[in-house]
Amino acid sequence: MVRESLDSFHRNLAHCTALQHSAQRRANTNGVWYTIAMHELSIAHNLVELAEEAARSAGAVRVTVVCLRLGEMAGVVEDALRFCFPVAASGTLVEGAELHIEYAPVQVFCEACKQAQTLTPPFVFRCPVCGASTPRLLQGREIQIESIEIEEGELETTNS
Ligand SMILES: [Zn+2]
Repeated sequence: MVRESLDSFHRNLAHCTALQHSAQRRANTNGVWYTIAMHELSIAHNLVELAEEAARSAGAVRVTVVCLRLGEMAGVVEDALRFCFPVAASGTLVEGAELHIEYAPVQVFCEACKQAQTLTPPFVFRCPVCGASTPRLLQGREIQIESIEIEEGELETTNS
């Protein structure tokens, strides 16, 4: 059940990518930090909702830690997300939870080398070993909850 929610969450996030990138461009050129923060706030709300759902189905009374895996190309500004997370968590089971962030490197598959290669900023999609064009992204754009830590309470029979 938790797995299903995670998958649908990732699908929901996929459509945000374009928005993220345009928000980031705007912020980079104009320094409009809050444009990004508004975007991170919606991500934070999604994360909180998902963590809360998982916690409820596990019979938890409180979420203490949310571990997030963030792709280096996810277009998420960590400071903004850290700022927004407690705001989104306020009044939910996730209130007061710590946010742990682990970065996922950007990996592409090089057809010429027949293996995965790791890209470094500025993330030009070329194999760092042989120089071939590498359009196939393996990872690096994810925004995934890896795990949550919870405080268990009385188990409820309702599961929604
Ligand atoms: Zn290569």
